[in-house]
Amino acid sequence: MKYDLAIVGCGSVGAAAGYYAALSGLKVLMLDSHTPPHRHGSHHGDTRIIRHAYGEGEKYVPLVLRAQELWNKLEEVSAVQLFHRSGVLNIGPSSSEFMRNAENSASQFGLTVEKMDAEQLQKRWPEWSVPDGYIGLLEPNAGYLKAELAVGILNEKAAEAGAELHFNCQVDAITPEDNGVKITTSEGEFSASRVAVTAGTWVKALLPELPINPVRKVFSWYQADGRYSENNKFPAFTVETPEGDQFYGFPYNNDGLKLGKHNGGQPITAPEQRRPFGSNTQDGSEVFGFLRQFLPGVGVCLHGEVCTYDVSPDEDFILDSLPHSPQISVVTGLSGHGFKFATVLGEIIALQAAGQPVPFDLSPFKISRF
Ligand SMILES: Cc1cc2nc3c(=O)[nH]c(=O)nc-3n(C[C@H](O)[C@H](O)[C@H](O)COP(=O)(O)OP(=O)(O)OC[C@H]3O[C@@H](n4cnc5c(N)ncnc54)[C@H](O)[C@@H]3O)c2cc1C
Repeated sequence: MKYDLAIVGCGSVGAAAGYYAALSGLKVLMLDSHTPPHRHGSHHGDTRIIRHAYGEGEKYVPLVLRAQELWNKLEEVSAVQLFHRSGVLNIGPSSSEFMRNAENSASQFGLTVEKMDAEQLQKRWPEWSVPDGYIGLLEPNAGYLKAELAVGILNEKAAEAGAELHFNCQVDAITPEDNGVKITTSEGEFSASRVAVTAGTWVKALLPELPINPVRKVFSWYQADGRYSENNKFPAFTVETPEGDQFYGFPYNNDGLKLGKHNGGQPITAPEQRRPFGSNTQDGSEVFGFLRQFLPGVGVCLHGEVCTYDVSPDEDFILDSLPHSPQISVVTGLSGHGFKFATVLGEIIALQAAGQPVPFDLSPFKISRF
């Protein structure tokens, strides 16, 4: 049997691609070496921020706005809350490029944001201590997504829509053929007219020519009381420090705060190098300086996790077909900010597989820029 579309990797983006492609009536095969959601990829740890006023550049805004619509619709069809409108507070020096981009994209796309200076910010949330010359940009309609829950639901909905799911099935090779692609797996060979490679961090095991660097990252939960909770309207946040480091965090019930450092991490070349939280001396302590300076009331590290980023040279996404094999498309280089886009990236894969036009400018995301 020949499938219209085979999806290699059914974590965040692949699960969405399978769902939208099956919904559109395509014959879809979904392959994953694990059973998503799981802790071996990039989607675990409960939550992911979704921001619309985008510090990484305005080119992402039309994509994220469509992604948000699709997340909302997925909530409706599944009757499960996946999006928490906690608001997202971006904090940084007024001269920061990230802050400027976020502000510009808000004004260009008419997004609601509230800009405040350091004094106004601290008055509203006395938990924060921010340097003079800093600004806050609160996006009240943004928030966070329940990531593992969403991946599970997308795969479930894909199966209900008729996709064939083969999990615990490792893909070993993808070979272009005259009228499609051969996919060699631990359970034998499959053929499809098109393949979407959404394999996350280890995509280079299948497509070694891609300019992707896997990076080990940690994130952890810290002791915090109800003041830092969503109940108290404490928003999810991103912070750029005076040294140029970037931290992010989530309100978490009434008894914790989840935090991570976006830049840095350990470049790795094999899955075994993704050693557990605590294996590196700085794992538990990399946010200490940030906490002391910005959130001095937060307490000790409760526990942590490891994860990986698939980092492209410019930290922008790669959304393209392979130059010599247009029947193989790839979504990679999500560089630690891709979860929020999973729905729209899945929809794009489905449209391409159905031969439909894609209503977004994908030219900034081409492989040929490298
Ligand atoms: C700590 C951390 C915090 C983050 N925070 C945010 C955030 O706040 N907001 C945000 O938008 N993004 C965030 N991200 C980024 C986001 O989570 C990722 O960009 C996104 O989850 C990547 O999706 P993916 O589908 O590419 O990979 P994954 O979800 O990891 O899926 C890849 C799948 O491919 C499978 N696979 C791999 N190789 C093979 C093979 N050979 N054969 C079969 N299957 C294979 C894997 O098993 C896996 O299921 C964060 C990432 C991390 C690590």
